[in-house]
Amino acid sequence: MTSQDNADAVPVTAGPGHPAVFNAITKPDQDDRSYRLLTLANSLQVLLISDAATDKASAALDVHVGHLCDPEDVAGLAHFCEHLLFMGTEKYPVENDYNQYLSEHGGHSNAFTSVENTNYYFEVTSGHFEGALDRFAQFFITPLFSESCTEREMNAVDSEHKKNLQSDNWRVYQLEKDLSNPNHPYRKFGTGNLETLRDIPAQKGLDIRKILLEFHDKYYSANIMKLVLLGKESLDQLESWAVAMFSAVKNKDIKVPSFEGHPLTKAELGKELLIKPVKELRHLELTFPFPDTQKMYKSQPSKYLAHLIGHEGAGSILSLLKAKGWAIALSAGITHGGINFDFFKVSIDLTLAGVEHYEEIVPIIFQYISMVTADGIKEWIFQECKQLAAMSFRFKEKSPPSSYTSRVAGNMHQYDPEDILSGPYLMYDYEADKIALCLSYLRPDNFRLTLVSPTHEGITSDFEKAAWYGTEYVLRDFPDVLKKALVNTKEHDPELFLPSPNEFIPENFDVRKVDGDARAAIIRDDNIVRMWYKKDDTFLVPKANVWFQLKSPMSYVSPLACTLARIYTDLLKDALNEFSYYAEVAGLSYALENNTDGMVLILAGYNDKLATLLTKIVDKMKNLTVDQKRFKFISEQVARSYKNWAMESPHQHAIYHVSYLTQEKLWTHEEKLAELDGITPDDIQRFYPQMLQHMHIEGLAHGNIENATALKLVQIVEDAFHPKALPAYQRAETMRTQLLTPGISYVHTRTVPNADNLNSAIEYYIQVGDFTDAELRAQLNLFSQIAHEPAFDQLRTKEQLGYMVFSGLRKSTGAMGFRVIIQSEREPTFLETRIDAFLAGLKKVIADLTPEEFAKHQTALAARMLEKDKNLAQESQRLWTHVSSRYYHFDQHVLDAEKVKRVTQDTLLAFFDKFIDPASTTRCKLSVHVKSKKCPEPKVPLEQDVKDKVEAVLKTAHVVQDDENAVADLKASWCLSKAAVPVKPVTEYMVKAV
Ligand SMILES: [Zn+2]
Repeated sequence: MTSQDNADAVPVTAGPGHPAVFNAITKPDQDDRSYRLLTLANSLQVLLISDAATDKASAALDVHVGHLCDPEDVAGLAHFCEHLLFMGTEKYPVENDYNQYLSEHGGHSNAFTSVENTNYYFEVTSGHFEGALDRFAQFFITPLFSESCTEREMNAVDSEHKKNLQSDNWRVYQLEKDLSNPNHPYRKFGTGNLETLRDIPAQKGLDIRKILLEFHDKYYSANIMKLVLLGKESLDQLESWAVAMFSAVKNKDIKVPSFEGHPLTKAELGKELLIKPVKELRHLELTFPFPDTQKMYKSQPSKYLAHLIGHEGAGSILSLLKAKGWAIALSAGITHGGINFDFFKVSIDLTLAGVEHYEEIVPIIFQYISMVTADGIKEWIFQECKQLAAMSFRFKEKSPPSSYTSRVAGNMHQYDPEDILSGPYLMYDYEADKIALCLSYLRPDNFRLTLVSPTHEGITSDFEKAAWYGTEYVLRDFPDVLKKALVNTKEHDPELFLPSPNEFIPENFDVRKVDGDARAAIIRDDNIVRMWYKKDDTFLVPKANVWFQLKSPMSYVSPLACTLARIYTDLLKDALNEFSYYAEVAGLSYALENNTDGMVLILAGYNDKLATLLTKIVDKMKNLTVDQKRFKFISEQVARSYKNWAMESPHQHAIYHVSYLTQEKLWTHEEKLAELDGITPDDIQRFYPQMLQHMHIEGLAHGNIENATALKLVQIVEDAFHPKALPAYQRAETMRTQLLTPGISYVHTRTVPNADNLNSAIEYYIQVGDFTDAELRAQLNLFSQIAHEPAFDQLRTKEQLGYMVFSGLRKSTGAMGFRVIIQSEREPTFLETRIDAFLAGLKKVIADLTPEEFAKHQTALAARMLEKDKNLAQESQRLWTHVSSRYYHFDQHVLDAEKVKRVTQDTLLAFFDKFIDPASTTRCKLSVHVKSKKCPEPKVPLEQDVKDKVEAVLKTAHVVQDDENAVADLKASWCLSKAAVPVKPVTEYMVKAV
């Protein structure tokens, strides 16, 4: 795999004077939007994007300052500043004003702080752009940083950090920073927590609010900001808003902060960093210091090396390591550092044996690099990369507005004005000397090695504990055996060779246009196949997305069957990889997944060579010979993924256990793990032909594809397996939902399996009724819309229960409901009382809405439901969701948007009384409490009445503990929902094949 981070940072110097306009921006052929680049009088550079067809407007602003600029004694300040800008401005002082406005108009917002950037963005229904934009602009003009918010919001930052504490990605990332050049700010800790934002400043007598104001005052300067506005309005209208609202952002004419030197210097190189992970991970990484490659973006020389080193076809490093049984996956490429510094990383997921042999793996990487050097730079390889890059830019489709504006705002710091859209994609000049220059950094004396593994052989000293995350590690010089192996890597293993020209590069880009609006229709329906088809009439790209659900009840009949099916799937993917990697590089990928119905095969990308890839995949599925050696590594990997589940975050466990209780049948990871040990290669070899023997194939082809081609594709699948038909009842069967008994508060209590995790979690689920009840569905949707912003404001901003606070719907076959999820250091019983109190208060919130406010919510929700798909993949996914649910309710969003507008305030209050009110005797409610083994006593003792309420939670509920028999009995005590029944007879979807 080629990994590439969003590139780097060269400031485009904005010229002074009145709006200077630049129109010559290179854009994709496909792109029907118009663009204008302005520089305001305050030097703020603004990109305007007018898109007449968009139903959402968005703005993003990227400030070229990040946590490298945090003061030495206040780690996390840039990030904290980002949180507080949302919390009120002089013009709009109410702390949740911005979020409330967005929520009432179908919008949302977010922000992130990185090494050198802070990026803010929002999205809102078209028609409300001006109001949202004015609120947003004030962040950068007159933020309040009110005392009370400043104090409270530290808790949100602290909780955000605690959410990451047990995440290996965060742990390893920060440790590598900790152990970098002590004279470079890259080593800083960017998230911050209560210690760095409250305690340390307090000890030093520092006023955090004053420091915040100073930070904002120093760095929030118009000349280092980039703004993007995207709306349906004309460029002139957008321009007048930009000028009117953003001219007041102060220009302090500062330089973009940058730093001399590199985080990895001679002192850090030639060392190995051995790390113990939280999960069972085995991972090897080589990090090479690189200069800032951003300056070379026109020829992207590092891409050439990433393409070869990260290749997965025959002759590649990965291919050889797999043959030796040492590796599972590999990626290579530039990881963005900051101004003046980059890293080139080669990352390898290892097998157990791979860890033992890591000292032999490293020389193989250098053998390959020597071979690339000795063979000389090949122009055809560059041209192939260039051709693929040009193709992906040419046919680039729209993405959701806020992800687009946010990304482009960041890119504006890094590319010349004409290249702000194309810069990350297009490669222009073939510059062999620059490729050779990049190659010259990939030397045995120029890297640091990181090895992540639960065990490390031959370590006699104690492991050290890192600051911030407590990660256990040893840092030492390369061992002698590695040093020796690196002396001569000129001769290379004969199994290493350069890839061949890629035959999957599409040649035919013809797109046939159709008139009118095509609908998803069935083009074949019999007892073996049901095939859905829709010709794309909207996006007009030479691409298609195809799904096949291979339904075989045998695949999920027991934990054993489910495990066999999983190993079979993983073996297949492993065996196909050398071949399918070429297709993937050329923009045509496939996925193969297990589910409770069997297996799903998905193909996505350029349609030209889709049939070729499909033929190869199904042929392998039919004829897989289980290789003993591969079997061993794959089952080791599957076991590892089952075991690692226990280390997932507490809120994931809460969500999973609500699903476990409410879904008719679900096998747990423990149950599957118990089966794994006894499975042999022969078991797989015998199992899969049986699984494939009786099947029903339900497919969907959507995109630039003809009816006849869609039929041909499903024929390829049928011909490969020649399955016998399933009985009609099995074809129609879907997994049902357990229906909670009304009037009982069910609580399932568990503990967080990871003993070191400080967080607990709760999912509080209220089941409302049958998913097919359209009136009720509208009421539930509207209730959820109205509750959403108050839930965040109350439970997170005001009460600071935790960083992760979510409210929304839970949908399943035959049932739907409302849920609140919180991850917190507080006890789940306490969280339950806070959710109860919040819900009880919602009645007043609904009752107090003025008719105008109520109507705003209806309009916002209806607009969100009717939101257009932004690209082919989004539409395909939506269609497939309706096919795979088996309701086939493709127009559901249209119906729902209509119904939502007709719900009255009285109906909603009655809905509340019956289904939501904690005092209701007809309510169906289940919560799952996952309690941390380290759950602390509250810092301030609870008041007696609060304590009584917390203690009452378990006393008044039907409590089921973590006992598999009790859980099974509980499930047995509930009724099951209806299965999915198509909303209209399937014959009404049929069209005659042509
Ligand atoms: Zn944050």
